[in-house]
Order: sequence, then C-alpha cells, then structure tokens
Amino acid sequence: PPDTALLGRSTWTFLHTTAAYYPLTAPPQAQTNMLSLLSSLSMLYPCSWCATDFQKDIRRNPPDVSGREGLMRWLCERHNEVNGKLGKEKFDCGIQNLDKRWKDGPDD
Ligand code: FAD
Repeated sequence: PPDTALLGRSTWTFLHTTAAYYPLTAPPQAQTNMLSLLSSLSMLYPCSWCATDFQKDIRRNPPDVSGREGLMRWLCERHNEVNGKLGKEKFDCGIQNLDKRWKDGPDD
C-alpha cells in the first residue's frame, strides 16, 4: 500500500498550490474543471478510508470554486478537518497566512 503520509503531503501540496494559482474570479469552465478534479480525486484517492471520509466531508461542505480566495479557504478547512481527525494542529485559514505558505513564501 502507498505511504499515506507522503501521499498526503504531496496531494495537499498539489491542491493548495493549484488553488493559490486559480483565477481570482473563476470563469465557468475553470469552475467545472475544479469541481471535476475534486470529485474525481475523492473517488480515486489511493487510500480508501481517506477517500471515503473526504467524499463525506465534500458532500457536507460543497466546494467553493467561485475564485481563488474562496477555494483556498474551503480547501484549508477540509485539510483542517483531516488535521483534527489525526490530532494535528489546525492551520490559520486567513488568506494572508495561506498566501504566505502556498504562494508568496516567507517574508524575507
Ligand atoms: P500535511 O497535513 O500533509 O500538511 C502539509 C503542509 O501543509 C503542512 O506542513 C502545513 O505547512 C500545511 N498545512 C497544514 N494544514 C493546512 C491547512 N489546513 N491548510 C493549508 N495548509 C495546511 N491521513 C490519514 O492518516 N488518514 C486519513 O483519513 C487521511 N485523509 C486524507 C484525505 C486527503 C484528501 C488527503 C489529501 C490526505 C489525507 N491524509 C490522511 C494524509 C494527511 O492529511 C497528511 O497529509 C499526512 O498525515 C502527513 O501529514 P504532515 O504532518 O506531513 O502534513
């Protein structure tokens, strides 16, 4: 079976980075593509219990694909959901903190 920690870190890196470079105001085609990516990921993710929980979480909390800020916040909250489940610290989902981690990098 895959290393779920490495798989998770890599997948979160892909998702948060993709959200950070998503359009500020997403055109309909980008919204459709993002919904399709998230839905497919939740079906195909190669950790079956992770995938099942992620599907349930997405059903309870439909993705905000309207634009980058909403998507980044939504994804941060989904990641915090998993952090909570695993007893990890919650991340500050403020946009400045998210941009610092996933777009701009540290101050100096
Ligand atoms: P990760 O949680 O992988 O985080 C990587 C980096 O992202 C952190 O160092 C931090 O800088 C940043 N970060 C942390 N939280 C946030 C946030 N909320 N928003 C933005 N950035 C943040 N593992 C399981 O054991 N069981 C599961 O059920 C499970 N479900 C998963 C479901 C999905 C969809 C994914 C993608 C992963 C899942 N994982 C699961 C893996 C788990 O989330 C972690 O990736 C793994 O435990 C490694 O954790 P880590 O401490 O290296 O940091």
